[in-house]
Amino acid sequence: MSSLGMTVPVRYVIRPRARRVSLRIDTAKREAVAILPRARDRKQADKLIHDKAGWLEGHLGRMPPPMPFTPGGVVLLRGNEIALVREIGRGVARENDGALIVPCPKAASFSGRTRRGLIALARKELTRQAQCHANALDVEFSALSVRDTNSRWGSCSAAGRLNFSWRLICVPFSVLDYVCAHEVAHLIEHNHGPRFWALVETRITDITTPRRWLRKNSARLFAVGAEK
Ligand SMILES: [Zn+2]
Repeated sequence: MSSLGMTVPVRYVIRPRARRVSLRIDTAKREAVAILPRARDRKQADKLIHDKAGWLEGHLGRMPPPMPFTPGGVVLLRGNEIALVREIGRGVARENDGALIVPCPKAASFSGRTRRGLIALARKELTRQAQCHANALDVEFSALSVRDTNSRWGSCSAAGRLNFSWRLICVPFSVLDYVCAHEVAHLIEHNHGPRFWALVETRITDITTPRRWLRKNSARLFAVGAEK
């Protein structure tokens, strides 16, 4: 018997509400996932993994290559691939002449410092754009947070809290600006109805291009900082 199925790394998830064993690709975590209704379905899941090994390998193989945070590597910033440079020293990461300079006393902390630097840049830009749209729409948000979200680029809570993915610092400015306008518009319309979209369009003339960009590039955005 071929051991092909065993070469594909798969994470098993028990989900009692699932109707049957199924496989899917988790773009955010860059891995294959087997959904099992019960723990004892493991054998059935392994058979499915074996049968679908070609499909799984095809999907995982087409994932954009990882872009780990390493000195001399590249990072995606505002839609462009730029060099990642380590500087021996302290302070916060800064953009300089088409590179991201990351002050870092110890090599081991480079990856973490790069991530924190990107989060800080993202927070600054997201806050500025969200504030700009909020002023224009005459509405206020209660708080703004920037995290590593997996399922949504942005969200807006009923309490008026805006939440964004730090990966938005990797996208072109027009895309980041659209996500900000979208979430700020939810402070007024908590739905995706015609009134909501009309509101977004008072702030962003072309909403199709940024939405398409995000759909097309999501796997690439999750490759930023990925180790494998
Ligand atoms: Zn929305």
